[in-house]
Amino acid sequence: MGQVKRYLEENEINELLELLVDNGHLEGSALGITKQVIDRGVNSLSSKQKYVFENKVLKNYVIESCSICGGGISWSEMYQAIENEGICGYCEHKLSKDG
Ligand SMILES: [Zn+2]
Repeated sequence: MGQVKRYLEENEINELLELLVDNGHLEGSALGITKQVIDRGVNSLSSKQKYVFENKVLKNYVIESCSICGGGISWSEMYQAIENEGICGYCEHKLSKDG
């Protein structure tokens, strides 16, 4: 559970989770579990739920670094990076300017 533990310390993940829920990215058990994390935190999950959260939510939606420049992506720009297929705001800006 190393990954979940790391995200526990960063309440900012809730902002990202809310965007994922509001924009319909999640469904089924992943949706229910994510709503529970927003309301009550990762600690409220059973180990089975944590497994689902880690594998269906964190693995799919948490982007640690930009796929072009390799720079770190902050929580506040992560949702945008998800929409941009894993690139940071800087690279996205550069690409849209060039294109
Ligand atoms: Zn980048």
